[in-house]
Amino acid sequence: MELNNDEIRRYSRHLILPEVGLSGQKKIRGTSVLCIGAGGLGSPIAMYLAAAGIGKLGILDFDVVDFSNLQRQIIHGTADVNRPKTESAKETIASINPNVEVVVHNMRISSENALELIHPYDIVVDGTDNFPTRYLTNDACVLLKKPNVYGSIFRFEGQASVCAPHLGGPCYRCLYPEPPPPGMVPSCAEGGVLGVLPGIVGTIQATEILKLAIGRGSSLVGRLLLFNALDMKFRELKLRRDPKCPICGDHPTITKLIDYEQFCGIIPEPANPAMNPDEVTVQEMKRALDNPQLGIQVLDVRETDEQQIAQVAGVPLLPLSQLPQRFTELDPNRQYYLHCKSGIRSLRALQFLREQGFKYLKSVKGGITAWSDEIDHNIPKY
Ligand SMILES: [Zn+2]
Repeated sequence: MELNNDEIRRYSRHLILPEVGLSGQKKIRGTSVLCIGAGGLGSPIAMYLAAAGIGKLGILDFDVVDFSNLQRQIIHGTADVNRPKTESAKETIASINPNVEVVVHNMRISSENALELIHPYDIVVDGTDNFPTRYLTNDACVLLKKPNVYGSIFRFEGQASVCAPHLGGPCYRCLYPEPPPPGMVPSCAEGGVLGVLPGIVGTIQATEILKLAIGRGSSLVGRLLLFNALDMKFRELKLRRDPKCPICGDHPTITKLIDYEQFCGIIPEPANPAMNPDEVTVQEMKRALDNPQLGIQVLDVRETDEQQIAQVAGVPLLPLSQLPQRFTELDPNRQYYLHCKSGIRSLRALQFLREQGFKYLKSVKGGITAWSDEIDHNIPKY
């Protein structure tokens, strides 16, 4: 199929590039890409691929747009808050380039559906923010021999590569054979991320996809690109396929998709989540604050910067990061309720203090976020 006159006008700056030209532009139009995640990375990936004239773009996400997404997820606007990300993304893509066929997958990718989802696409791009999905995407792509354009971001740092053992490079497991212990690597929601960072890493991923589509240049197959925005530095690591890799090695032991939550050490939440005996509710935290005669000390284990954003009046701060040096300031025989932002770090603080001999400890489930939802709406959520 030739390009029509509108397409020739739209893609003229590609057409006059000798490396792209008419034949390259037709290859881009003939390429289908599944974008896993319509968040920080997915935004620039989907928008640039749409503008470049990719033929078919699958957008997979189960989430809705949150106010805190808008700082970096530029495919969504303020009016899209609470709408499904896939719907909002589809509209933005259509406004950029109505020639792109958009397929919406408003769901979670899982071991049950991953192969079927990925199979119709030429290239997969990983815009996920969690380890189970990242390993799942990798394994499904290795099994189906699809290039997996990988990117990840955290705070001021990002990385990108193209995982494609069938093209001679390593897979994600060759780089990272084991997932980090759960809770060890904070998510962007916990650790923060510079809003423009996914713009840079996602644009690198989109560039690699276009190069794969036209078959020009040297791709990131066999290379890991590391970026630090604070120092404004790019570094590069050479990567080799691990012959002992359990999925792309010479004698693979993983021949079908596994349980990735379990592989990453994540204990699934029961349908009707029973209370962890180490946890109390924000209502119980309020009771402790309202009744000092109970002798319960509520302690905020978030970092200093976070306390400046939001705090519950009368709750002293002892950041988790300072706990190993400062726990001696606390009385091991006193009762403490520990709170953080969402209830994860306070459980880590509880674990640490218990190891130091503290006996009467509880972690506040849901942290200050739950406090804002259930006790005091004037406390800002961040
Ligand atoms: Zn591998």
